[in-house]
Amino acid sequence: MDAIQNLVRENIRNMAAYAVADVPASFVKLDAMELPYRFPEDLRRELAAELAEAQINRYPNPAACGLQPLLRATFDIPEAARIVLGNGSDELIQLLTMLLAKPGAKMLAPEPGFVMYRHNAALFGMEYVGVPLNPDFTLNLDAMLAAIETHRPALVFLACPNNPTGVPFSREDVQAVIDAAPGVVVVDEAYGAFSGGSFLPQAGGAEKLVVLRTLSKIGFAGLRLGYACCHSALAAELAKIVPPYNMNQLSLAAAKFALRHYGWVAEKIDILKHERARLAQELAALPGVRVFPSEANFLTARVPDAASVFDTLKANGILIKKLHGAHPLLEGCLRFTVGTPEQNRQVLAVLKTVF
Ligand SMILES: *Cc1c(COP(=O)(O)O)cnc(C)c1O
Repeated sequence: MDAIQNLVRENIRNMAAYAVADVPASFVKLDAMELPYRFPEDLRRELAAELAEAQINRYPNPAACGLQPLLRATFDIPEAARIVLGNGSDELIQLLTMLLAKPGAKMLAPEPGFVMYRHNAALFGMEYVGVPLNPDFTLNLDAMLAAIETHRPALVFLACPNNPTGVPFSREDVQAVIDAAPGVVVVDEAYGAFSGGSFLPQAGGAEKLVVLRTLSKIGFAGLRLGYACCHSALAAELAKIVPPYNMNQLSLAAAKFALRHYGWVAEKIDILKHERARLAQELAALPGVRVFPSEANFLTARVPDAASVFDTLKANGILIKKLHGAHPLLEGCLRFTVGTPEQNRQVLAVLKTVF
């Protein structure tokens, strides 16, 4: 047999695997935009009882499991939109890319942006066009429109609010991109719950619009539940490539439970939005620190020495994300997931010893 490396597709051979951080249990984990809260004991017991009833001997039937109507009611998803479930929105990003990766087709997204877009373009042989954001991380609309005109992308991704910057794009700018794009535009609202505006009310209208959401950032990253709200024409094509049993009974049951207790979730979102404002203010008060305006559950800040701030926090048992080095515009940048009030106090206490 040939060596495995020689059998593997060349574009994959040259990739690096996504490294999931291995974090000691004692650490304050503020690197991955997870909700820092779990359901209280009584709800966890109720959830356990419901999971015990799940028919794990049967294949799941996501279309009939009752989750879509709950999503529709909880998030006001228009009747016209179809809801396609994915094993995390990551899977939907992959499926959308796979669907549109005709030979010569291009994907376009602002940079710095969510790393999985570029990764999936490479995976499926789409040419990737990254369009730099403005230095304040707002969308460079002129550059976007020019790039759309030049490259005629089959697929555009706009994370709004954007990751890793937290900065939202103006509604007018996003709409201008949708209007100009010759292909599908995915408005990725992974952080939509922490933000003001949403394109969900428009989902199901234009054939080219996909609004992508997830339960991951609002308390349920472990369930792996993402959903794409889109026109039925696109949903019908996607249905041909979604693995028939991509969702599992336990996730589906747990997600339904979570949505029936959305009041608890909404309360936590409110706490985090409040904490976001407080943390932003305190970070900005540190000498030499610039905090970018965020509508997500994290804050991106530029500091004089990102590596040493990152290392000091880590030495104190706090893990954040070092963005410095990932893109020229992210020079000196760190990303702080907003934690509980106590966790944020710990972060600030350490930072006050550094600055
Ligand atoms: C976290 C994130 C996702 C992926 O979320 P999952 O549903 O957990 O796969 C998608 N898009 C953006 C912009 C994200 O930050």
